Amino acid sequence: MPRKEILDRIHKYVEPFHITKGKRFRLKDFDPGETCGLNLAKGEAADLLQRGTEWLAEEQEMLYAQDRWSLLLVFQAMDAAGKDGTIKHVMSGVNPQGCQVFSFKQPSAEDLDHDFMWRYAKSLPERGRIGIFNRSYYEEVLVVRVHQEILKRQRLPDPLISKRIWDERLADIAHFEDYLTRQGTIILKFFLHLSRDEQKKRFVKRLDRPDKHWKFSTADVHERRYWDDYMHAFEEAIRATASEQAPWFVVPADNKWFTRLVVAAAIVETVETLDLTYPKVDAKKKKEIVAARAALAKEK
Ligand code: ATP
Ligand code: MG
Repeated sequence: MPRKEILDRIHKYVEPFHITKGKRFRLKDFDPGETCGLNLAKGEAADLLQRGTEWLAEEQEMLYAQDRWSLLLVFQAMDAAGKDGTIKHVMSGVNPQGCQVFSFKQPSAEDLDHDFMWRYAKSLPERGRIGIFNRSYYEEVLVVRVHQEILKRQRLPDPLISKRIWDERLADIAHFEDYLTRQGTIILKFFLHLSRDEQKKRFVKRLDRPDKHWKFSTADVHERRYWDDYMHAFEEAIRATASEQAPWFVVPADNKWFTRLVVAAAIVETVETLDLTYPKVDAKKKKEIVAARAALAKEK
């Protein structure tokens, strides 16, 4: 299938979830169960996902060879929304050398001795690489906002903690992202949007499967009580930080196959706009190649 045709086909699975302006964004306008009329049974989704991941693998080789742009993929979600599985599937064809994955958990004592961006800034992708943040600096306006006792542990000077702190943090994040994009980092942010009911189903399934018990945590179940607070925090974060250069994708997450398709499609579409090519070989290099070939042919 020609690339143009694939691009046309995937566009309708990206566009509805692509947020570039936050002002009018409301989470309630988005349905976690949406599949855009696509039916898994028909095999079209699997086919598109496979083409998407193969394509991404090719583009990543060029990204690496060019060594100019870098790509930062941010994944945020409630537990059991499928971050790990999505990352695994979407990046399945990509050369591991060109890819760096960081999973951010609770901050260490050393992290807490610094400004909140410190640990994330240290992990940004090098030029030519794809960096994946499995959770990110957005936790600083999500979990920290929902559980304000975490903010206390950050030991900010008292006069700096006011009612405006969340708006200030969101503005700092937006500026930080502007800065990064001006440095050649392409930023895509994915909120895997899961419904509370589907989360419950997935937790129950984990309890039924011994091979999934390691993923079970009582704290995760407890966290369900704060669902509405989290949704509010997500909405505020998306409203304040969605932009053309660092868009959010509010990806329906009640159907894992659809989540993966939308994420793969969004990445492919974006990378395609970079118009990547392998670096041009100049006349001097061409001569060197001819000479090297001759030298190798002469070897006994
Ligand atoms: P898994 O799929 O394995 O459950 P996970 O990303 O949920 O992956 P966990 O170790 O279960 O990993 O959870 C990490 C926890 O760390 C989350 O509850 C998250 O909210 C918390 N966390 C991440 N960043 C911060 C932060 N900056 N401050 C406080 N807590 C944080
Ligand atoms: Mg977890």
